Order: sequence, then structure tokens, then C-alpha cells
Amino acid sequence: MNRSFFIKTYGCQMNEYDSEKLNDLLKFSGYEQTSNFENSDIAILNTCHIREKASEKLYSDLGRLSAFKENKKKIGKKMHIIVTGCVAQAEGDEILKRNKSVDFVFGPQNFHELPKILKKKKAKKIHNNFLYEEKFKSFSLSSEKNVSKLITIQEGCDKFCSFCVVPYTRGKEFSRTVEDIYAEARSLVENGAKEIIMLGQNVSSYKSSVIKSGKDQNVFLGELCRILSKIDGLKRIRYLTSHPIDINEELIDEHKQNTKLMPFLHLPIQSGSNKILKSMNRKHTREFYLGLIKKIKGKVKNMAFSSDFIVGYPGESDNDFEETLDLIEKVKFASSYSFKYSARPGTPSSIKKCIDDNIANKRLKKIQQTLNAQQREFNISFLSDTVEVLFSNKGKKNNQFVGRTPHLQPVHVFSKENIIGKILRVKIERLTSFSFHGNLIT
Ligand code: SF4
Repeated sequence: MNRSFFIKTYGCQMNEYDSEKLNDLLKFSGYEQTSNFENSDIAILNTCHIREKASEKLYSDLGRLSAFKENKKKIGKKMHIIVTGCVAQAEGDEILKRNKSVDFVFGPQNFHELPKILKKKKAKKIHNNFLYEEKFKSFSLSSEKNVSKLITIQEGCDKFCSFCVVPYTRGKEFSRTVEDIYAEARSLVENGAKEIIMLGQNVSSYKSSVIKSGKDQNVFLGELCRILSKIDGLKRIRYLTSHPIDINEELIDEHKQNTKLMPFLHLPIQSGSNKILKSMNRKHTREFYLGLIKKIKGKVKNMAFSSDFIVGYPGESDNDFEETLDLIEKVKFASSYSFKYSARPGTPSSIKKCIDDNIANKRLKKIQQTLNAQQREFNISFLSDTVEVLFSNKGKKNNQFVGRTPHLQPVHVFSKENIIGKILRVKIERLTSFSFHGNLIT
């Protein structure tokens, strides 16, 4: 019987994409996917290093896995425990030191080597080189059928924000070729995908060269969107995450002209205070950000924005926090993520003195109330409107289906016919917390 594997994924959509690719690689190498750790011969943890709690969770899962491994040993069975992802890259030695039952540690640019390493009698335990090209070349075209599919088009980051581990764990910016991305997108659409979400730590810095009229020329994100939108059957294109300084005119114009490119932009700012933005090494000011939003809104009337905020960053005063609230008031976000600052080991900000925890907690509560109120206000403006919804899943109730609007709001409807994969017009009737309920327009 083939050996079985189970992958647990922590963190972001890029990790989800990596796990899907690792899943395919292991299946093609003859391993069988199983539904939980206990049954698996190979237990894989694909980790995230962005939040402190995610790495704490890793060590608690490793404790549980060690016990399973010991029990299997008693009945003469072998279990491999593998850690991959960003914590593996950043803390490989530490993981092996803290938990002796871990067999191998693979950085995010090395997990493609796992099937080969598992077949070896002897192999080194840590694999943490930045093998981007080799990794992407090893991927097969996905055969999974889903309405909305992720494609990583870019990895790594050269921005070095003071609080962020990505430049150290994912390495320098790397963009996949246009040909690779196009081939993957086309195969996903042939398998039923209607929406492609292009991923990258800094997707707006996408740059790859192609030969045009005999000359080497760069393709940036706007043109890539245009190229993908020519795929027959592809209905919607999204991308995340972007850095404000990389949003160029070409991309904004593409949003204006390309009806397949959705009018929703996740544009992290982190703080509304110039002092804190400088300390974070964000490379832009609040005025630049507000100017960019104004420019985009001027050209793309229905564009909505979401963002990320860190509160309680070292040195954040009451006045800095007020400036963040003021920026939120000026932009009016459709949705956003906010977190209390937590120091990530090895980053420049980790040696700075943290502010009082009670103050940080109060600020987090305040910002979340403000952002939630804005999200509600944005959603309320759609009540009684008719919107186009791409249906991707069944709902919890009988004959219920769930889809997303162009602005990513979830919508629930009832239909006797299976409507998964269809874009249909829905009259929005009511709003519950952050999701819509409506009726199909026939
Ligand atoms: S731009 Fe994003 S990924 Fe890059 S260092 Fe800053 S926060 Fe991290």
C-alpha cells in the first residue's frame, strides 16, 4: 500500500497555493492523501511566520504529532514529520532543537524537493535555499476543479518594512514568466475555473520580460491582466497583495478598461502617521497614499479599497493613532484587517521598545469598531441593488448557494438548479453581519 500524507496549512493564500502544489507533487510521486494527522505516514505542517500565535500553534501541533509518532513506532510503523513554510525558513535550527521528532525542515522555496528526499536513505535535515525557478518548474498543471483558483505569480519582497519577515523568509522579489502563468491559468479555466486570483507578497511589483517585435520588453501587472483576460471562459481576475508605490498608471488604466478585472483593490497602508510610516520603512507618506486613492477613484468610479493596519507599533503616540483614524475616515474602506503589533524575531523593529499593551488593546478595539462600521456602511449602500454574483459553493441550507459580488461581498441565494460556476444577477434584499441575502433575477 502507498504511504499516506496529510498537510496542515497555516496563514495566507500563498501558503494555500503552496500546499495545493505540494499535494499534487506527492500524489504524482505515488503518495496518498489522507484526512487527518493520526492516519498519516507523512505529516506536513506548512507554516506562517506573520503572527506570533501562528508559530506558537506550530509548536503545540508538533507536540501532538510527536505522541502519534511514538505510538506508531510501538506498533512497528514509521511516521515522518515535516515542517515547511516561513517558520521553517526562519527557525529551521530552532524547530529541530525544540522537537526531536521532526525529520525534515523545508523553506518555502524548497518543498518541491520533498518527494525526492523522502526516497533517499540519508539526507540533510534542513533545506532552505531560494530555489524559485526550480520550484515553479516542478509544478504540474492543477487538475482540481474549483470556480475560483489561486495562482502565485510573484514571490518575495525587496521592500524591507521594519516589522516584516517576508524579505527574510521568502527572499528577493521573483516573478514567474508570462508563459507559465498563462499556461496555468488556461488549464485552470479548462478545468472549470471562472475566476483567477493572482498572488504575490508584492504582486504589484510583477515584472517579467518577453520578446516583442524582436526585442526584450518588460510585462508588468496591468499587461499581465490584459493577457489573461483574453482566455475564453475566464470571467473574473483579481490580485493581491499590493504595495502603494508600485501601483502604476498602466494598472489603473487596465482597471478602467478591462471588465474582467474586478474593481476591488487591497492596498495595505499599516498606519496613517508619517512618523510611523517612516519608522516602518514603508517608503511612502500618508499624502502619497491619499493621492493615489484619489487618482484611482477619479479614473475607476466603482473601485473599492481594503487595507491592513498595525496598531501599537513602537513609538505610536495618541496623535499618530488619531492620524490613522483620520486617514480611515478620509478613504472609507470597504473592508480591512487590523492587528496589534507583535515583534517578529530578526526584524529591525523587534529591538524597539513596545508601547503599553493596554493602550495597544484599546486602540485595536477602536480601529476595529471604526473599520467594521465603514464596512457595514459600504454594504448597506448595496441594499435593494441588483449585482452580478459569481456562485462558487453550496450554502449550509438546502438549495442554498453562495457567491461573491465584484467587490468580494458574500451573497446567499436559494435555487433549485445548481448555479455553481455561473454569474447571475441578484437583487440584494438583506444584510446579516457582513454577508448579503438576495433573490435571483430571472
Ligand atoms: S511590502 Fe509587504 S511583504 Fe514586503 S516587507 Fe513590507 S509588509 Fe513585508
